[in-house]
Formats: sequence, structure tokens, C-alpha cells
Amino acid sequence: MRDIFSGDIFMIRLMGGEPFLNKDLERYIEVVREHFEHSDVHIVTNGLLFLGIEQKILDAIISNHIIVDISDYEPNRKLKSKIIKFAEENGVHISWVLNTREENSFSKSLSINELQNDVNPCENSMSCINIYKGKYAKCPQLMFLPKFNEYFHVDLPSDGIYDLYDKNLTAEKFICNISKSEKLCRYCDMVNPKWITWNCYTTQKRPVIEDWLI
Ligand code: SF4
Repeated sequence: MRDIFSGDIFMIRLMGGEPFLNKDLERYIEVVREHFEHSDVHIVTNGLLFLGIEQKILDAIISNHIIVDISDYEPNRKLKSKIIKFAEENGVHISWVLNTREENSFSKSLSINELQNDVNPCENSMSCINIYKGKYAKCPQLMFLPKFNEYFHVDLPSDGIYDLYDKNLTAEKFICNISKSEKLCRYCDMVNPKWITWNCYTTQKRPVIEDWLI
């Protein structure tokens, strides 16, 4: 990414799962800052572990000017004042991200059936490009689809996951690849997603496919 964009990336977000569970987070922070000196670098977290992070992680966040984005969910709202106080006392820049349409709701947009023949690229095409294990894709939903297919024994189209180490990769080719819609977009209704209420499904032993599909 540094080579093809000359280090000129506006924003990089370290996401999970939950980044504060990653034992190598300090190294990720250092490597990203080393290669992207001028980028906005964020950690995206639910904040539940933020108050107990190790001093070395806190030091890495502060010294590398990392912004901590905390997604607004009901469980972390109870900790909000403590988290803000902790951040202020330690000089950490946090951002409380309201990412739901309504309080306590969340959206899903993927269907097991093709919904439309042709779609325009949704806003994720340029705002949530995902990089994972040497690959890049236009959105996280697509990037993790092979795992989804394998786990639930389905065969949704996963075209559109590209090799970041392609020797012929240029900035133009990268942008072209993540700007067009992919087959999966035909199965994805971002215009009218299904809104679901946040809940704790503690009695459920394993995830079920309906958790993701509209
Ligand atoms: S799969 Fe859905 S979320 Fe991803 S780019 Fe296509 S329309 Fe957007």
C-alpha cells in the first residue's frame, strides 16, 4: 500500500474482531505509523477492554498519535463517562462513533438469493476497503465471505478479493478494482437493509446463518 500510493493514504483503521484482544496490536500500530507517517490512524473497538489495556499499548497509541474509535453499543454506554475520563487523563484522542440508525439497532443487508441483476457500487466501495492477509476487497462483507461460505456450507459469490502482492498492481488498478460492484452486491441490499435489535443471545451455542441474512 505504501509503495503503490507513495504512503499517501488518508485514513487507516485497525479493526477486528476486537483489536484490543490482538497480542500483536503494539506492532501493528508501529508498522502502520512507520509506513504511513501522515495518515489518520484509528483503532476501531467496542471499548469494553479499553480501561484495562496494557501500558505498552497505551504508550504506543499516544506516541504514534492513534485515534481510538469506540462504536456505540448498549454495553459500553454504561462505561462511557469512565472511558472519556481515562482518555482525557492519558491524552488519548477518542471518538464515540454512532453507527446505528436508532439506539440499540443494527443492520444486515445480505441475502442468500440474488436480489437484483445490476447494482451501482454502494458507499462501502470507497469508504470501507478491507485489507486482510495480503488481499484487498471492496468491503468486509466480501472479504470474509469465503469463511462464511465454508462455515455455513453455502456458495455465495466471492469474486472481487484481489492480491495485494500482485507485481503489476498500481494505484489506478487498485482503485478500479474496489470501485466497481461485484457479484456479491447483487445479493446485498444496502438501500433497504433489515434493522435488528441488539441483544445477547447467550443461550445459543453456535451462530446460525439467519444471524447474517435478511
Ligand atoms: S457486498 Fe454489499 S456492502 Fe459490500 S460493496 Fe457490495 S453492496 Fe456494498
